[in-house]
Amino acid sequence: MPHQLIYRSRLAAPRHLAGVPQLVLHAGRRNEALGITGLLIRMGEYFLQVLEGPASAVMALYDAIAADPRHTAVVLIRSEPVARRRFQSWHYVPVDGKGAAAQALVPLDAGDDDDDRVRGIVESFMDGAWSDPSPAPSPSAAFVPRHAPAPGPVALPPPTDATEVRFALQPIVEPGRRRVSSVEFLLRGPQGQAPTALLQGLSERQRHQQDLAWKALAFAEATRLDLPCRVAINLSPGALLSAPDAARALMAMAEAHGWAPGRVIVEITEEEAITQPDQFHLAVSDLKAAGFVTAIDDFGAGHAGLSLLAQFQPDKVKIDRMLVQDIHRTGPRQAIVRAVLDCCRRLGITVVAEGIESVEELAWLQAAGVQRFQGLLFARPLVGGMPPVRWPSSAVRREAGPALAGVQRSRVA
Ligand code: MN
Ligand code: MN
Repeated sequence: MPHQLIYRSRLAAPRHLAGVPQLVLHAGRRNEALGITGLLIRMGEYFLQVLEGPASAVMALYDAIAADPRHTAVVLIRSEPVARRRFQSWHYVPVDGKGAAAQALVPLDAGDDDDDRVRGIVESFMDGAWSDPSPAPSPSAAFVPRHAPAPGPVALPPPTDATEVRFALQPIVEPGRRRVSSVEFLLRGPQGQAPTALLQGLSERQRHQQDLAWKALAFAEATRLDLPCRVAINLSPGALLSAPDAARALMAMAEAHGWAPGRVIVEITEEEAITQPDQFHLAVSDLKAAGFVTAIDDFGAGHAGLSLLAQFQPDKVKIDRMLVQDIHRTGPRQAIVRAVLDCCRRLGITVVAEGIESVEELAWLQAAGVQRFQGLLFARPLVGGMPPVRWPSSAVRREAGPALAGVQRSRVA
């Protein structure tokens, strides 16, 4: 069974353009020797290549291409076994214009079905859909290096009771404005356990009630820390439905600690099954009516996905780390995230990208229009206090100095 691999790439420098005819000639001979057929389209500085042949030969060739310094921004779009070769020989198509005339040059056999993914990918490439959203920002925009000593956490009084559940704090940041927009409270047991471990042995109803009750501790902690930004808490759909007036109970807890609902973001995970959609919708409406800011958490990780978004438009969508990881070199994730961004833009929903760990991921997402981020690149969750935030130097303003490596409370809004 042949393997088909499709990628796009970009010439590393315009000076390589002169070498392209030679490159193409060489590639054609090499592919013939390897039993690889396919298609290479060049549009300006961009290439789209379809490689078909024995899996091992195709993969080895792709690895060599990805490592070739003349290419940059190599994005894998598709790699899977196919029932038959789409191309019986090797084709090269340089395209200097867009539209139907250019597409006629591509040897895609007539009579194929409309669901042909190769055709779809080729056409979207020729429409510019696989071009970078803007001149790629330099990923070398230096962060404080990983091995540099991190500034210590902000000094704080110890929590009142060390045996209680605790919260690890992780900020959501807006690097373009060098601002912490909110801080998420992640529940932890006394030994750092995740909430699921703490709730073991309880009935479902007890779990939901406990989940709701612990939010009071989060508000108390937020007050103790005197946080100058919004606070984000996690609430399961079950907890939201466990009592008829859960939203009002939550509001009472928040206000008892001086937190107006407009300064509280309630994150609801997409992953948890929403078995009672009508009641869930009512409970969320109550949250909105009480003035809470709502967010769908871990968007893209669960099964509800777009159907959840279709019936529940939150103020925020947090894109799950699984979609963010390695996005700068993963075509399907790029396509999905761009669609989610477009959708959220149209619906006026703010997007947060979760799980950012590398400058390359950050650069791609910023170029695509994401402004808010959460992840280890900026700050690690810290129990009992606000963790220090690392900022990219490209976002450093003129007043910035080494002292700005930590959270600047005066700039937090
Ligand atoms: Mn969350
Ligand atoms: Mn999350």
